Amino acid sequence: MASLVDRYLSHITTACTADRSGAVADYIPELAQVDPEGYGLSLCMHDGQIYSRGDSTVEFTIQSISKPLSYAMALNRLGYVRVDEKIGVEPSGEAFNEISVDDRMRPKNPMINAGAIQTVSLLLPPVRDVSAQTVGHVFDELVTFYSACAGRRLALDSAVYGSEASTGSRNRAIAYMLDSFGVMDTDPEAALDLYYRQCSLRVTTDDLAVIGATLANGGANPRTGRQVIAQEVAQRVLSVMTTCGMYDGAGDWVTSVGLPAKSGVGGGILATLPGQLGIGIYSPRLDRHGNSVRGIDTCRHLSTDLGLHMFNLN
Ligand code: GLN
Repeated sequence: MASLVDRYLSHITTACTADRSGAVADYIPELAQVDPEGYGLSLCMHDGQIYSRGDSTVEFTIQSISKPLSYAMALNRLGYVRVDEKIGVEPSGEAFNEISVDDRMRPKNPMINAGAIQTVSLLLPPVRDVSAQTVGHVFDELVTFYSACAGRRLALDSAVYGSEASTGSRNRAIAYMLDSFGVMDTDPEAALDLYYRQCSLRVTTDDLAVIGATLANGGANPRTGRQVIAQEVAQRVLSVMTTCGMYDGAGDWVTSVGLPAKSGVGGGILATLPGQLGIGIYSPRLDRHGNSVRGIDTCRHLSTDLGLHMFNLN
């Protein structure tokens, strides 16, 4: 079994690394510093066994792949009713940084920036002036939660964090829009700070595969055995990843690949086959939606070659 999987992963790596299209994200200056040729692929099975290829130990920033994790953390803590009052679950069909809300003034879903900034605002105290110390404390809790999902302690990339914070006009506009609509109950600057920090956590493809396998496993990390996400929360997170995870490319993604997934502008993709496995991919050149070009191609191959589409009826 092992050598069969290894042979297949070598084959898919060769097939997918030939493509040099797309461009590394440069709207956050620090992100432009990475090697555009980087490519890593990891699979984590439901028994916790990891298979990996290429740059599977290279660290990159998690970026928007943090969004399902913070959403899970908010749902774990506050329950559906309170979270649903503030964030919808409808696909937006729009870009990740779109300035948009639904007719109840809620961000349309937690996978776009507006929804993710609203999500972290729910983790902060509902006061207008949140101290840096309080943000630091909530961030520690967030890192502990993400780390429990990954099965190892994750750390902040302070250069990327600084770069995000100093170039975040668009996200600042989104946070203040939510504040002006009365949906954000905390200090918008604190929510932004927490959001920039979560985006700047470093992960490897092995980490993403384990996080994916934890979601696939109903919230139990298959390597540590710990139930880190409530089962019904894992189900909700996977549902929202299915319909909203790949931004305005979501419909095409569900149809052709059929795996709940989340991408980040750092070049990572996390995909999950419920009940079976987690997939982590890294390749920093992005398409116009902000999704990794080779990452998408790799997922298409895996889905087709191995029959991983979640509605595969064979
Ligand atoms: N930190 C990035 C931003 O808010 C994350 C975006 C992404 O990965 N799509 O712009």
